[in-house]
Amino acid sequence: MILDCHCLALMSTGIFFHYQQGERLRDFPQALSGILEKDNVFFYDAYYPSNPTTSFDLDPIPLEDLHGVHLPEMVDRVKATGNYEGALYSAAGTLSAAIKIWSGELTNAFVFTGYGDHHAGSNFFGGGCYFNGAAIAIHKLQKEFGGKRFAIIDTDAHHGDGTWELFQRNREVLYICFCSGSSREENQNVNIHVPLRVDDKSYFSLAKKTFQKRLKDFRPEVIFWNWGYDGMMGEYGGMGLTPGIPSTNGHGN
Ligand SMILES: [Zn+2]
Ligand SMILES: [Zn+2]
Repeated sequence: MILDCHCLALMSTGIFFHYQQGERLRDFPQALSGILEKDNVFFYDAYYPSNPTTSFDLDPIPLEDLHGVHLPEMVDRVKATGNYEGALYSAAGTLSAAIKIWSGELTNAFVFTGYGDHHAGSNFFGGGCYFNGAAIAIHKLQKEFGGKRFAIIDTDAHHGDGTWELFQRNREVLYICFCSGSSREENQNVNIHVPLRVDDKSYFSLAKKTFQKRLKDFRPEVIFWNWGYDGMMGEYGGMGLTPGIPSTNGHGN
């Protein structure tokens, strides 16, 4: 999850990290060495609280904030899966990052979550998602900080059914989902069809065209980006994308 707010001249970046289990993130935070040591980078960690020593501990989400988005019976069902703590800290990273960006403590943040967001709705979850961190953060900023307009960009290969359900009647949140589902709009929820097989250049050009225009028109105060990696070649939602950034002459690298 990446969050961004263009409100400060002096850039500071937060990196939020929670490792729970499995292969994902197994080489973190070591893989971030050279980045974490920078003066304008701040590291928040729920798993390795004293490593590196410059990191800050991450607090779990209060139950009342969870219940602002997810029904109490769903929270109980997540507890029964045995993944409650991991899900809580994953969403806590997003919530904490959003509050720090809103208050000006950070300019932007990258949240490496153990569990995702976008398949978690008001009373359902699945696909490795338990709590919807972006929705919890937006709810908090609206309720306690006077936030008005937010955007969520979703470039995970699969449709974000949880995020869609949570915001389909909410005109204060622009949700743009890039997936293989058909293109459609409902209030400020926008689904953009992306072919199951796509090349870097076409994807990048579609993303640029869609996001720039819609974000400019909507003027969100904070942007959340569900940065699913599963559309990469060889991943479980692989659409044929490569890890490189397409060059301006159109030759991907
Ligand atoms: Zn996915
Ligand atoms: Zn979608």
